[in-house]
Amino acid sequence: MSSKAPFEIIETNRRTVIDILIASSVNEALGYLTSHHREAQVMGGGTCLMPQVQRGEIRPIRLVDVSHIGAMKRIAREGEMLLIGGAVTFARLAKCEAVQEAAPLLWEAASAMGTPAIRRLATLAGNVVASVGNADGAVALVALGAEAEVTNLTGSQWLPILSLFMRQGVSRINPSSEIITAFRLSALGTGQGCAFVRAKPAAPWQRAPFVLGLVLSLDEAKERVARAAVAVGWAGGIPLRLTEVEREMAGWSASSEDTWGAFGAMVREALFGGRAEIPPALEMDIARLAPRAFRRAVEQARRGPNAAHP
Ligand SMILES: Cc1cc2nc3c(=O)[nH]c(=O)nc-3n(C[C@H](O)[C@H](O)[C@H](O)COP(=O)(O)OP(=O)(O)OC[C@H]3O[C@@H](n4cnc5c(N)ncnc54)[C@H](O)[C@@H]3O)c2cc1C
Repeated sequence: MSSKAPFEIIETNRRTVIDILIASSVNEALGYLTSHHREAQVMGGGTCLMPQVQRGEIRPIRLVDVSHIGAMKRIAREGEMLLIGGAVTFARLAKCEAVQEAAPLLWEAASAMGTPAIRRLATLAGNVVASVGNADGAVALVALGAEAEVTNLTGSQWLPILSLFMRQGVSRINPSSEIITAFRLSALGTGQGCAFVRAKPAAPWQRAPFVLGLVLSLDEAKERVARAAVAVGWAGGIPLRLTEVEREMAGWSASSEDTWGAFGAMVREALFGGRAEIPPALEMDIARLAPRAFRRAVEQARRGPNAAHP
């Protein structure tokens, strides 16, 4: 074994994890993946991966732990952009003032996600690569129009976050040869507000069955919606942007309770109208949570970004 592993070497009835490398740089991690082609896979906090290995659902026999790579644990505000390393955990996001100020939507998602023990281990990149609809961090990043820096042996490129989800459980990222090293997103500006809402999980340690992230930009008078970004996810799907709903919302009154209710109805229609696989039990949650998100985003846009959380 290469160095001290945070998890016990695992025996499954099918394969055995024989080595865990705790990488200290992206190059070292990529080098290991290359020299153990098809046998090795990237690991962040291991909160999704290790249960899958234990259940015999995936069979990497070597793991590369990237959660200790300094460059991947950075959070930095650069002008109007916020940069977040791929190995930043949810606990760090939830504690970080720069995230709370520049991306309160992501901060809310990080604070609500999982349990304290899970948040301490779980990384933002792992949340995205898991490619699950009700992934709190992934849905927040989609609403924020974030990009992911994907690094492999040929170099790095920035890709829109939404392009990374292929279908449930399948990401465009191949964790046997590629690493999400960072994310970047625009900081919330004047006249913008956001909200993150999630349906109550069946048990405190389970995922929320439905999550929604909303970013609203109001006009100068702060009376009407100029632009909206609506991202949703539910158990069984992948994170989605509701672009038709976004288009409809342009010009809506920001103050009328009718508008808030109309937003709930449109989200419900966008999801149930075309996709029968969404459990109908979620309908009431959506009708309750979506208007609340709208109201909160408007209130925040009127208060200003630096007063995001009074
Ligand atoms: C009890 C429990 C509760 C949970 N509750 C929630 C919840 O409320 N909300 C929620 O969203 N999720 C929840 N999860 C799921 C999980 O914790 C998150 O999805 C977490 O963010 C995964 O991150 P990780 O670092 O642990 O990923 P890992 O398990 O390490 O990896 C997940 C996948 O991503 C790949 N990967 C990891 N890092 C990288 C990288 N940098 N580059 C490329 N590929 C990478 C791995 O190869 C693997 O395919 C929960 C899990 C458990 C066990």
